[in-house]
Amino acid sequence: MLTYRRGRLFMDQVALAEAAGRFGTPLYAYSKRAVLEAFGRLEGAFSRRKTLICYALKANPNRRIAALLAGCGAGAEVVSGGELRRALAAGFSPGKIVFSGVGKTEEELRLAVREGILAVILESEPEMGLLEDVARRLGRRAPVAVRLNPGVDAGTHAYVTTGTASTKFGVDKVSALRMYRKAAASRHLAATGIHCHIGSQVTSVEPYRRAAAVVAALVRDLEGRGITLDFADLGGGMGVAYADGLAMDLPELARALEETLSRWPNMRLVIEPGRLLTAEAGVLLTTVLYRKKTAKRDFLVVDAGMSDLIRPALYGAAHPVWPEREGGEKTNLVDIVGPVCEAADHLAKGARLPDCAAGDILAVLKTGAYGFSMSSQYNSRPRAAEVLVDGGKVLLIRRREVLADLVRGEL
Ligand SMILES: *Cc1c(COP(=O)(O)O)cnc(C)c1O
Repeated sequence: MLTYRRGRLFMDQVALAEAAGRFGTPLYAYSKRAVLEAFGRLEGAFSRRKTLICYALKANPNRRIAALLAGCGAGAEVVSGGELRRALAAGFSPGKIVFSGVGKTEEELRLAVREGILAVILESEPEMGLLEDVARRLGRRAPVAVRLNPGVDAGTHAYVTTGTASTKFGVDKVSALRMYRKAAASRHLAATGIHCHIGSQVTSVEPYRRAAAVVAALVRDLEGRGITLDFADLGGGMGVAYADGLAMDLPELARALEETLSRWPNMRLVIEPGRLLTAEAGVLLTTVLYRKKTAKRDFLVVDAGMSDLIRPALYGAAHPVWPEREGGEKTNLVDIVGPVCEAADHLAKGARLPDCAAGDILAVLKTGAYGFSMSSQYNSRPRAAEVLVDGGKVLLIRRREVLADLVRGEL
């Protein structure tokens, strides 16, 4: 997807310098082909069992990206009313949308019930009580899945670990059983599935295997009580290879999950990948503003910062950085930092690059997930533009914000 041709960096058939010249930097560019290929690989790995792939919108909620995946037949995983609206607008059918999150408001629950989504993922007993009230008032029966916290450490960064007992996510097995019994007795709830999601950027199959085993044990308990479910949703979190090179082995993951559910051949498997589908399809283009040498370090100050891409500052994430112009030996060890007034603000530390000068463009790789979607206007910086690369064409899919956007809504 990214190649040098005659010394310049291309995404598919598009010269990235041209895109940067046309739309300015910082600029997010996504390869349509790469998104479709990532989806195809995942679909292929899970082809032996009826599987619904629900794209986790928060990785990259741009309508054009979401619409691409909706067009592939994917469902959506949403975590807010805003994402639910986006998913519907992008063309996902309501019957393929699951809605999770520990703090859904009454208004969000009402929207979910009215739209008739596949399931509300319940994260607590009080939430179930509120959903039942909402469904009763609407004269509806809301399909639900309880999010089980399996007590499994996914071996990933603490900020994206969600399956251990000390996190806010899901409920323990005893509470889950109680909730399923209540749901089964309710005229306004229908227990249709079970859910679990252990974390993000997980690169080992083992924690999934353990979490799936905990889910399977609960499914058996429920069967013993006469409660049968339509689907088991084992969440997202499949990791991609950043600079450390580790990635989830998808065929092995599929085998592990299928094995755990082999007693229930008709139960639909649901998975909720976000990062896996978009991370590798995106680059963040940024322009070098200054080269700054201090007694201790060699800095490249660029026009993108943690307000555009927070992953390095927040998680210590290491994204590869390539110069737009190939050439020269990578002899310089530089810290690539942005303009934001925080010591944490950086895009890369100790990157090896050829000589760079002001005006040169750098590409920060694998930033198609949790890049733009976690960006902010911190330091009153307008958010970047986004483009979709389709073969040799470049389509602007979100215009760069302007200064007026910064004060819009202020009174
Ligand atoms: C964030 C999230 C996902 C997607 O995680 P990725 O690491 O992007 O695959 C899936 N399910 C739930 C419940 C989430 O919160």
